[in-house]
Amino acid sequence: MTSTSGVRDAKRLPAALENLWDRVVSRELSGADGPGVVYAYRNHGLWKAGRTRNIQRRLREWAQDCPSSNREWVGWRATPYVNQTEYLLHLALETVCLSRPRFQCNCGKTHLELFELGDDSEMAEDLILEVMEMVVVFVLAKY
Ligand SMILES: [Zn+2]
Repeated sequence: MTSTSGVRDAKRLPAALENLWDRVVSRELSGADGPGVVYAYRNHGLWKAGRTRNIQRRLREWAQDCPSSNREWVGWRATPYVNQTEYLLHLALETVCLSRPRFQCNCGKTHLELFELGDDSEMAEDLILEVMEMVVVFVLAKY
């Protein structure tokens, strides 16, 4: 079981998120950015989006660092600028989510960038995949 104690909502106001988005997309891309994969999974009713340069390695790392029988991978998408894509994806998910809890997990870590997307898990899965697709398409068109 994963503890829900210590959950605290870190969701920011829509106007602040919009400002951040504008500021981030008006800047030059970091030279350290490059190709990779953004991914999404569900765990204990919460949704997570992350990034990696190597999806197979990341799958193994998650399995080792935070063992959980409930983790369910729902999708991933390749992108030429994985850092920027993940950052924008987190902003977009924070905008549409119900809450963004700081989650004290039984693996000993506080997981960040988790999103509560509602009780209907099918709708939530559609939503997170749709947002991921939109952000990747945005990044492909812009850079
Ligand atoms: Zn954990």
